[in-house]
Amino acid sequence: MMDRRLEKAVNQAYSVKDVLRHFTGYAPVQDTLRCPFHEDTRKSAKIYCDPDGDKIYCYTEAKMFTVCDLIKRYGDDPSAWVVEGVEVQDVTDENRELDMSLLDDFRLGRIDMKEVLLRTIHLTSK
Ligand SMILES: [Zn+2]
Repeated sequence: MMDRRLEKAVNQAYSVKDVLRHFTGYAPVQDTLRCPFHEDTRKSAKIYCDPDGDKIYCYTEAKMFTVCDLIKRYGDDPSAWVVEGVEVQDVTDENRELDMSLLDDFRLGRIDMKEVLLRTIHLTSK
């Protein structure tokens, strides 16, 4: 069971579109989409921006899903998306993209945590 604080950090750090792009190579341009949580033939779901992180609401299922729910849906563990030291920062739209690539590099072992922190500090101090 994942720590609530970490779950919240992941929900806030990544947008729904980031996660969709990561797993499917594609992110919807608009906020309506085919629901990733059921076999959907039309666009039954909508992305909502929330201070706690993006949510997907599925009108067919009448359910709300978080970014962590989406990561789990694609068979990944959201705790693996936490980057220590950067998770509590406010992440703007502009640097979300960079955070994503940093995290990928870290997970693939291309860079270590020190490098992640150095690049993040550089990013936020500009
Ligand atoms: Zn659905």
